[in-house]
Amino acid sequence: MSADSGVRTKVRWPEAAADYEELRVVSGPRSGVTIAIAVHSTALGPALGGARMWHYESPADGIEDALRLARAMTYKAAAAGLLLGGGKGVICTPTPERPKGELRRAILLDFGDTVASLGGKYVTAEDVGTGSADMAVIAERTSHVVGLPGERGGSGDPSPVTARGVLASLRACLEHRFGDPSLKGVRVCVVGAGHVGSRLARLLAGGGAEVTLSDVDPSRRALAEEIGAAWVEPADAILTDCDVLAPCALGGVIGATTVDRLRCEIVCGSANNVLVDDRLAVDLARRGIVYAPDFIANAGGLINVYAELHRLDRQGVTALVDHIGATIGLVLDAAERRGTTPLAEAQSLALQRLRAAAAAA
Ligand code: NAD
Repeated sequence: MSADSGVRTKVRWPEAAADYEELRVVSGPRSGVTIAIAVHSTALGPALGGARMWHYESPADGIEDALRLARAMTYKAAAAGLLLGGGKGVICTPTPERPKGELRRAILLDFGDTVASLGGKYVTAEDVGTGSADMAVIAERTSHVVGLPGERGGSGDPSPVTARGVLASLRACLEHRFGDPSLKGVRVCVVGAGHVGSRLARLLAGGGAEVTLSDVDPSRRALAEEIGAAWVEPADAILTDCDVLAPCALGGVIGATTVDRLRCEIVCGSANNVLVDDRLAVDLARRGIVYAPDFIANAGGLINVYAELHRLDRQGVTALVDHIGATIGLVLDAAERRGTTPLAEAQSLALQRLRAAAAAA
């Protein structure tokens, strides 16, 4: 592990950092902002993970976030069967305001140099606070960047691919629960009608599902009207009586007080970290609610940039995304057979792939 000098705040390295292949922390020479890149594992391939631009209370919080998110990326890639490792970049902005103009450019060039210094071990992409135009600036300093604008050969908006993967997962859950993957007449509540949720809602409605939509943005009601979906206010959405609850907004929507009040048979959506705590997977299983582990169900976004890295064509992407459904089916069956949870099986599947890669190395 290496930690470049220049960080202006005293940082206590989290104990977990010992499990990581690399942690690089720099104070950007042009911008003065703290940049942290954590490489959790390259056992399966280069560590791919987005560049998060966020204002943290302290650089130490940003470093912790990079470590936590990098590890999650390792599991996500391994469970999806991709030849990728896990990493994450974090850019700690000096204020909560989105950096603009010259400062933004300086930050991105500093970040690009930090990515370059890892020599291909880490490949960056878009994440919270960054977009494809930012990736184009980073590309001025390193070739280890994906998520570039379409005209630069980039894979473009990942949301359609993510929505397709969630739909494949949802069908696998229906097959497991009801013995039939058909969407006809299935009542699905999509919470969050943004990039992924809106596309998922359209696919569901097109397949004959009875869709209910919810969003904190009331202008999203227009989509509900357009596709013939019902509307539920966000405060009530999670507890909607439905067959499938599809959380497609923020994470942490299912907590200890919610789990016993859910009125669905299946939870399957795109949001990251849907469960406040991993142990809630046990409560869901106890209630007989089928849970599609989020990091498998929403892997379409990662597959989209993976395709850019490996120059896969649309057919290749579609095959990988549709395979997400098969993986969900696998973990649901394994959990039922062994009396565990789909989340535990998903984690164990990822670990098996990592161990096999380590053994073959
Ligand atoms: P987005 O910002 O486009 O959409 C989120 C929507 O949720 C917005 O319309 C917002 O108004 C709404 N929302 C926020 N809080 C809400 C609440 N409490 N109740 C109801 N609606 C609420 O984001 P997105 O790109 O569609 O991503 C959705 C989720 O999926 C996120 O958790 C994201 O991390 C995850 N995800 C997205 C992708 C992708 O390809 N975009 C890939 C993997 C995971």
